[in-house]
Amino acid sequence: MNNFRNKLAAFFYGRYGYDQLGYALFGFYIAVVIINAFVGSLILSLLGLVLVGIMFFRIFSRSIHKRRAENERFLKLWRPIAAFFKLQWDRLREIKTNRYRKCPDCKAVLRLPNKKGDHTVVCPRCRKRFDVKIRF
Ligand SMILES: [Zn+2]
Repeated sequence: MNNFRNKLAAFFYGRYGYDQLGYALFGFYIAVVIINAFVGSLILSLLGLVLVGIMFFRIFSRSIHKRRAENERFLKLWRPIAAFFKLQWDRLREIKTNRYRKCPDCKAVLRLPNKKGDHTVVCPRCRKRFDVKIRF
């Protein structure tokens, strides 16, 4: 058993392993498998294989710098998408207590208390004033 463990450790030594892109590929793969359970498409089956193929290729890769650069490029794309969905989620979760409004000047998103009526807001980032209407 110890021998097997040593061999395994030796095999993984110097290999890249998991990162956020790896998890995303796995997530996409699971999504494709679930969709394909309903659709039953050959193209989706192949896409699933390609996703898993890329995932394992990256895990076992010895080109650490290349894989890290790929992950950085992926995160550059992914972070704004994740931030958008997190904001939508927060808006929904706090719908009773808070309203989110974008500052028309600096585009900062402000989290305001949910008080019905017309208000003037001072943006904490750029100090500009703007009007906010909260109807419900
Ligand atoms: Zn502002």
